[in-house]
Amino acid sequence: MTIFESMSTYGYGETHLVRDERVHLRAVVAIHDSRRGPALGGCRFVSYMNEEAAVTDALRLARAMTFKAALAKLPHGGGKSVILAPTVEYDRSALLARFAEFIDDLGGRYITAEDAGTGIADMELIRARTKHVVGLSAERGGSGDPSPFTALGVRRGIEACVAIALGKPSLQGVHVAVQGVGNVGYHLCKELATAGARLTCADVRDDLAKTVAAEFGAAVVSAAEIHRTECDVYAPCALGGAINDRTLPQLKCRVVAGAANNQLASEECGTVLHEKGVLYAPDYAINAGGLINVAQEVAGYDAEISRKRTLAIHGTILEIAQRSRRDNVPPQQVADAWVREILG
Ligand code: NAD
Repeated sequence: MTIFESMSTYGYGETHLVRDERVHLRAVVAIHDSRRGPALGGCRFVSYMNEEAAVTDALRLARAMTFKAALAKLPHGGGKSVILAPTVEYDRSALLARFAEFIDDLGGRYITAEDAGTGIADMELIRARTKHVVGLSAERGGSGDPSPFTALGVRRGIEACVAIALGKPSLQGVHVAVQGVGNVGYHLCKELATAGARLTCADVRDDLAKTVAAEFGAAVVSAAEIHRTECDVYAPCALGGAINDRTLPQLKCRVVAGAANNQLASEECGTVLHEKGVLYAPDYAINAGGLINVAQEVAGYDAEISRKRTLAIHGTILEIAQRSRRDNVPPQQVADAWVREILG
């Protein structure tokens, strides 16, 4: 597919390609939608098989940011940048400084933040050249680590699902199986344990699973077993594609609700889940807490406002689940249709 064909597939306006051989910079900045405000989305700094893969990744991710921001009622559109990791020796500071200058040239139409391969230190370096960056440290007036907010939103989303699917008003005694207890998974387990849930967890890193077992009384199973654990809620918090043709027939839960992006390997998987009577909380609706928190930096960071807006994820998931039941349509499709309504 050509770049223009890809842009047309994802419904795009503008995509920028940035190159400066002096610092080995090659980057893609995708601005998917600016109807609700400046495009906001992280900067990925990773190796790609080829240029086409980098462009496709940026286009796909920026579109997902539009959906996430719209459903979270943020005054932002979706954007994303990817920097292709150089295959030669390079000066990271010089490369990021040049990248920052380019972001500044866009005049605020795109606001960058951290993502895979970038961190708070990189954002602070970028901040020296442009104000169009968020995700700075709390010491510098930024929003700090987004994971606790993502976890808070996921807990609220799980509560909404449990109310609808199990008819329970709280998480007391509800059994949640958490796949991946890294940044978000750890904080989610803390939230769930505080709410009285029973936990089972798994991580490919034994040390992380053991920490959650010790701190929150979680049972530990292997990474191969977690999705087929008999439980009320399965919470994928590791990589994408947790719900796929292999795992679908093995699920023994009533709800799938977690933090991971792109949980459904295909839209068809969402339909099968729905037909099996398993309630799915669309990933971009339930995991928006981190984005809500980082977006607060644009207006001047206030943790209390972030918290209130993140708590509102409960209402969003409730509404999606109710519309899904009423119209007998898979939740993912309900969420997508709702975004189209919001974007007009
Ligand atoms: P992380 O890398 O800190 O945690 C992921 C954990 O999953 C790691 O501990 C890893 O060892 C584990 N893992 C990997 N493969 C596994 C497997 N097959 N089985 C069990 N465990 C496995 O990442 P994170 O920041 O916690 O993000 C988790 C997911 O949530 C990702 O999909 C991310 O895109 C998504 N997400 C994160 C945020 C955020 O605020 N960090 C916001 C929105 C969405």
